[in-house]
Amino acid sequence: MEKIFLSPPHMSGKEQQYIAEVFESNYIAPLGAFVDRFERSVCDYTGAGYALATNTATAALHLALRVLGVGEGDYVLASTFTFIGSVNAILYQHAHPIFVDSDESWNLSPSLLKEAIAKAPQKPKALIVTHLYGQMTKIDEIAEICQEEGIYLVEDAAESLGAIYHGRQSGTFGDMGVYSFNGNKILTTSGGGMLVSDNEAWIEKAKSLSTQAKEEKPYYEHKEYGYNYRMSNVLAAIGVAQMEVLDERVRRRREICDLYGALLGDLEEIRFMPELAGSRGNRWLTTLTLETGDPFKSMAALEKEHIESRPLWKPMHLQPLFKGALAVVDGTSQKLFAKGLCLPSGSSMSDEDVARVSAVVKRSIG
Ligand SMILES: *Cc1c(COP(=O)(O)O)cnc(C)c1O
Repeated sequence: MEKIFLSPPHMSGKEQQYIAEVFESNYIAPLGAFVDRFERSVCDYTGAGYALATNTATAALHLALRVLGVGEGDYVLASTFTFIGSVNAILYQHAHPIFVDSDESWNLSPSLLKEAIAKAPQKPKALIVTHLYGQMTKIDEIAEICQEEGIYLVEDAAESLGAIYHGRQSGTFGDMGVYSFNGNKILTTSGGGMLVSDNEAWIEKAKSLSTQAKEEKPYYEHKEYGYNYRMSNVLAAIGVAQMEVLDERVRRRREICDLYGALLGDLEEIRFMPELAGSRGNRWLTTLTLETGDPFKSMAALEKEHIESRPLWKPMHLQPLFKGALAVVDGTSQKLFAKGLCLPSGSSMSDEDVARVSAVVKRSIG
């Protein structure tokens, strides 16, 4: 039986043609025309003003905090229900995280955010908010709170490229936004990220920091330290080809989620991750909770049938790494983690694959 992966790469067919163009031009490394094209295509699609292609989204988040002036001893608010890549940059900057729990949307709770701001030992510099599994956060409310409080808003849209809220793309509501093109995301360049903002000076600053912070001199002069975080032209060629099929990929991921809904939705035991009114997520992964069952039992049953699945992210405030960190939590994400399951959701899955997965899930809780 063929293995069904959680979210494998799904090429458009154009990638190798564009890579061949890179080879013909010999702009193998590091930068070149495809990096510019990739950045422009992300701006055109999302409506963001400016973009910087990076080697990972983790690096893009680090650049965002550097550009916004987050440094040692500062406080940074963050979704607790997220992937570690979302918050590593807080540690890179020797700042302190304050984790905020989710609400019924599974995403960051605006009311707990307000509570966290009130309880913070000093005014937090920024908030990193994740649009979990490609589903939109209550981003308008959250942006308003950040604006009122004078806190920078960084959107971790690593999982949510193509998701919209009231017609506007995730990643474009905050001061800066980040997309990921890692191997299992909705689009992939094998590894890659993108930092976006409407502030040209910030993107220019991030570009300088991402290429070793060299001063504009005929020789190598450095006043501050930077990083080697830029994306290569070869990978950008893959990204350009991937962006051409983003609409199609979102459509298919949503279709797969609907199909799971049709096959499993009538079971009392199962609740799918909700979708905010006024939003259209990209359904990067179809995720659900088992109200009484054990998700790890279902995962073991799926594994036996050569089907890859995953628990939900373990909240950051429960990680040994963040023992003792500040957190404003009410048990929501902890409960979701205990009950939750991510199902295979790759856009290259067939309807038969979805049926095969659904049958095993059904049996495992039956
Ligand atoms: C994947 C992911 C990241 C990190 O992306 P990389 O490109 O792998 O560095 C950050 N945040 C979230 C929520 C993610 O899912």
